[in-house]
Amino acid sequence: MTEETQSQIERTLVLLKPDAMARGLAGQILARFETTALKVVGTKMKWMDAEFTRKHYADLEERLGSEVYNMTATFMQQGPVMALVLEGYDAIATVRKIVGSTYPDQAPAGTIRGDFSHMSRGASVAVGKAVANLVHASGNREEAAQEVDLWFAKDELFDYKTLAETYNC
Ligand code: ADP
Repeated sequence: MTEETQSQIERTLVLLKPDAMARGLAGQILARFETTALKVVGTKMKWMDAEFTRKHYADLEERLGSEVYNMTATFMQQGPVMALVLEGYDAIATVRKIVGSTYPDQAPAGTIRGDFSHMSRGASVAVGKAVANLVHASGNREEAAQEVDLWFAKDELFDYKTLAETYNC
């Protein structure tokens, strides 16, 4: 692998949100990432509390206001989430592409949000709920580094080679 290619190998945090877990979609969602040659290097389940939610969504209230923050916090604490650290070439942007836009009704078919969820932002907000969009994924390199650090200790992350890496495919 060239140095340039190596520098594009990234790690990113993905959460399968409580709606994904409640609907039994973890396996299907994980398969989407694995078939794109993204490697699972860390995984755990966690039931988020108010303090941890605040740390994870540190800028959400400032960015989208307290109403959206409160709805999202309540939503994220309604059940356990599955946290994953995925590694691969351009992993951060690739995962966001596979996940699709924030609002499921605007997410194209073929994306996780577009295929498995359909509720519009308006429909969710009308019933006082956060947009149920199944997955969280880090937005950029800085966010990915912070989030991986928040969710995983160093010894919970693993280095190993997949067959795809061995055969460079
Ligand atoms: P993304 O998860 O796509 O990166 P954001 O970071 O902007 O999106 O928002 C975090 C989460 O907050 C979203 O995934 C969604 O669950 C919820 N959310 C965002 N905007 C709204 C909104 N206008 N109304 C209700 N919930 C929202």
